[in-house]
Amino acid sequence: MTPPPYTGRFAPSPTGPLHAGSLVAALASWLDARAHGGRWLVRMEDVDTPRCVPGADQTILTQLAACGLQPDKAPLYQSARGALYEAALQQLITQGRAYPCGCTRQDIAQAQAAAGHLRERHGDLVYPGTCRHGLQGQAARAWRFLTQAGTLQWTDRRLGPQSQDVQQQVGDFALRRADRLWAYQLAVVVDDAAQGISHLVRGQDLADNSARQIQLQRALGLPTPQYLHTPLVLGANGEKLSKQNGAQALNLSDPLAALNLAAAVLGLDAQAGLATDALRHWTQAWAERYGH
Ligand code: GLU
Repeated sequence: MTPPPYTGRFAPSPTGPLHAGSLVAALASWLDARAHGGRWLVRMEDVDTPRCVPGADQTILTQLAACGLQPDKAPLYQSARGALYEAALQQLITQGRAYPCGCTRQDIAQAQAAAGHLRERHGDLVYPGTCRHGLQGQAARAWRFLTQAGTLQWTDRRLGPQSQDVQQQVGDFALRRADRLWAYQLAVVVDDAAQGISHLVRGQDLADNSARQIQLQRALGLPTPQYLHTPLVLGANGEKLSKQNGAQALNLSDPLAALNLAAAVLGLDAQAGLATDALRHWTQAWAERYGH
């Protein structure tokens, strides 16, 4: 069987300019695509409109271009793709895999307290499944995915074998949020399939989402890409670098210096000279490590 042609992507949320941490994911996804002779696409994940900053998309594209990272097609904007997310939600409803939920955060916390434990994951309470069997007179607020029980296993190309029991560890997660916005999980799965993404390379902070996304792909009859999660750049407080803990926008006056910092995080040697030569050198090194 011939493998599908390689298509990779970088999917920033335009909530601000790229910083040293986001450049690592951009560079790694670009190198992986080039090392496989594949295409590299950019997708603006602007579904969470209140968090998006006007003009940040253009800033990001300019920063990528300054670093020699040019997408092979015009970028896709998730804000223009609501109809596709709606169709996916309808498909899941028809299949009995999505249900309306009337719970507030407080309801969820109370249900958990009644069950004797407060389970949280990245600030989101693990949903105990209260509305699985109906809204019980409450108004629908969000739509949730009916997760499957059991442990899901997959292999990350860098991290190795992974497993997660989505129902136990995450719970039925939102597809459409109470504020009517489309949830990241649904948008990312629909768009990765629509763009034919065969290999997904992104920061390790997102690795935890993979099991949810694989369950959604299977429910929607979509292929599962290969995953590779890159090391994170940590801020002064030891947490993932972000605007909140002091990440600076990339300094475009010296793109090679910015690329060298990102390359070091990926375990690649520092290069001098032209950025294009450095990228060529790293593509070769990347192919030797992750080419197969
Ligand atoms: N938009 C997400 C972020 O910037 C990345 C999503 C992904 O790569 O799956 O954190």
